[in-house]
Amino acid sequence: MSNVHLIDHPLVQHKLTLMRKKEASTNSFRRLLNELAMLMAYEVTRDMAMQDVEIETPLEKMKAKVIDGKKLVFVSILRAGTGILDGMLSVVPGARVGHIGLYRDPKTLTAVEYYFKMPQDMQERDVVVVDPMLATGNSAIAAVERLKELHPKSIKFVCLLTCPEGVAAMQAAHPDVPIYTAAIDRQLNEHGYILPGLGDAGDRIFGTK
Ligand code: URA
Repeated sequence: MSNVHLIDHPLVQHKLTLMRKKEASTNSFRRLLNELAMLMAYEVTRDMAMQDVEIETPLEKMKAKVIDGKKLVFVSILRAGTGILDGMLSVVPGARVGHIGLYRDPKTLTAVEYYFKMPQDMQERDVVVVDPMLATGNSAIAAVERLKELHPKSIKFVCLLTCPEGVAAMQAAHPDVPIYTAAIDRQLNEHGYILPGLGDAGDRIFGTK
């Protein structure tokens, strides 16, 4: 699948397996998601722009490389995106944050927007959209559509888990947006859940079921 980055690092895969288990507590699910998000941030930021700055070590002056974290915007799709956002921010603390509130209409499974708040000057920023599950793709597609209205420099999409249907939908709507994921599961069921998946990510992060 073009433009899909499967993050198959053993640490990522191991933590994902622990999260999938139905007996994982809210506490451990949240902690594991946090750790996974840090590891995924490492892959997603691999091609971030760097610049040279003049610094002084205890021995001499040198030119050394730094990133400009402020140029990066993590956009969290509420509410489950928050679980990934926290981990990513601990690795890139200078990043800006945007939020998109979308809920899934349980009958039509389409995305309905109720909140949209982004930093200024989006046309100067690189965007990383985060949501743990890319299932039907409806929320991700709608979120990216809205973001494209602001003309950011680039957009990437990060999820923990997806399925062939989600990838196909996203790639059909936004072939220019790379997808970073830790797994592509077997299929989507008729309720829009990923199988075998990990259940409802939001409920498992926040302990609401
Ligand atoms: N959202 C979830 O939280 N889980 C799924 O399996 C699909 C969408």
